[in-house]
Amino acid sequence: MSEEIPKKGIAAVVVNEGSDFRVEVQQLDVPEPKDDEVLIRLNCTGLCMSDVHYMLNDWPVPPMSQFGVRCAGHEGAGVVVKIGKQVKGWKVGDRAGVKPIHDVCHNCEECWNGRENYCAEALQTGLHTPGTYQQYLAKPAIYTSRIPDGVSDEVAGPIMCSASTMHRALIEGQLKPSNWVVFPGGGGGVGIQGVQLARQVA
Ligand SMILES: [Zn+2]
Ligand SMILES: [Zn+2]
Repeated sequence: MSEEIPKKGIAAVVVNEGSDFRVEVQQLDVPEPKDDEVLIRLNCTGLCMSDVHYMLNDWPVPPMSQFGVRCAGHEGAGVVVKIGKQVKGWKVGDRAGVKPIHDVCHNCEECWNGRENYCAEALQTGLHTPGTYQQYLAKPAIYTSRIPDGVSDEVAGPIMCSASTMHRALIEGQLKPSNWVVFPGGGGGVGIQGVQLARQVA
């Protein structure tokens, strides 16, 4: 089930990064996956407020351009179109999700204890590495999420960041049936996912 991979893909490129940024549709080279990576053709991306901050360059992190990154975005859903030589367990045609973390060191106390989102060497998608506002992305297979049948790409994309954030918060909060739960900002992108997830517990 392989498909032809073009040389270039459509991308929403940030121009004039900073307070006057704009996003321009351009053609960018399709990356070649490294040995441990899969090449994903994205069908959908979520839009997260963090993306806007990266493009505004108003957070205390280096600008994305410093890492050669042209596109923001870290909530992607698509399909694997090519496999690196050493990748196991993935095949062309598998559905794939792209998360806010591109990869971690796998070798620190946080990584060993399932808290790799706190890894000091974590690389953020759409800041340190190319983001999901583009058609083709190469991603470490080990950090690529599977998307089950029955979940559309439009739904799966935002689950990678905003809904996962809420899901974890509800687990840490030990929400149980019949509990009340309050979401400050319940109409926002993260809160609205919380309301839906909490309803599933009730
Ligand atoms: Zn996000
Ligand atoms: Zn680590």
